Amino acid sequence: MFDPRARQKSSRSEMQSLCLLGAILVMVFVIFVLPVRLDLSLFDGQCGQLNKLWQDKYQTEFDYSKAWNRAEFECPSIVSGLVRALQFLDGLDTEQTVGSKRKGDFYQRLKRQSPVLDHDLLFSRAGKTVFESRKIILNNLVLADNNPVRVAGILMHEMRHLEEGINTHVPCLRESSNSCDAVLLEKPQLGGAYNFNIHFLHLVRHYSNASDLQKRLARREMQAIFDTRFNQIPESAAAFYQLEIPQ
Ligand SMILES: [Zn+2]
Repeated sequence: MFDPRARQKSSRSEMQSLCLLGAILVMVFVIFVLPVRLDLSLFDGQCGQLNKLWQDKYQTEFDYSKAWNRAEFECPSIVSGLVRALQFLDGLDTEQTVGSKRKGDFYQRLKRQSPVLDHDLLFSRAGKTVFESRKIILNNLVLADNNPVRVAGILMHEMRHLEEGINTHVPCLRESSNSCDAVLLEKPQLGGAYNFNIHFLHLVRHYSNASDLQKRLARREMQAIFDTRFNQIPESAAAFYQLEIPQ
């Protein structure tokens, strides 16, 4: 026998189940999908802006090897990977001392080292410094990823090598074919290039005008360097940089 009240009740409970399922799906998306999706795509017109900076500013302010295509580039590409990193450094404000903001300080610091920027596929490291020619060689695959924070961090690492004038790395205790810094220090001026890399990303993350996305990229990059590139990590340094000690 047809019972309209029973029918109404069952369709109400179907509706409630659907709403519950929808809510669960939204929660899963917010908790698991959003945090790992770090979107590096450009907004409309941004590739044109980057091309303009490449032509009008960055090509004249730095020296480049012949490996670079100086003409108009597409996004994403190897060239846009570098230009995005230079733009990020150029616009970065970091509050290194209380109350004093130094816009573009890291960009100027890189410029002062007069590096010859190069890129190459023939080595597996993310970056490499050749002291005699002042070359900073960047890995093509890393550039092609177009992560401006990561590439900027690598530029700062290699810049630190040029500032120090010697290779301060030591073989990693875990894997001696890799290079590490002996110890992570809270005072980056005393440490090696990985230490400086961590310090730079720490400033981006906590004391800069970087966007939320850029700060999350900095956090992720810090942990990756932290996990593999130090032979010794004092607990106080891990706490200072707010990172989890690798197992
Ligand atoms: Zn290095």
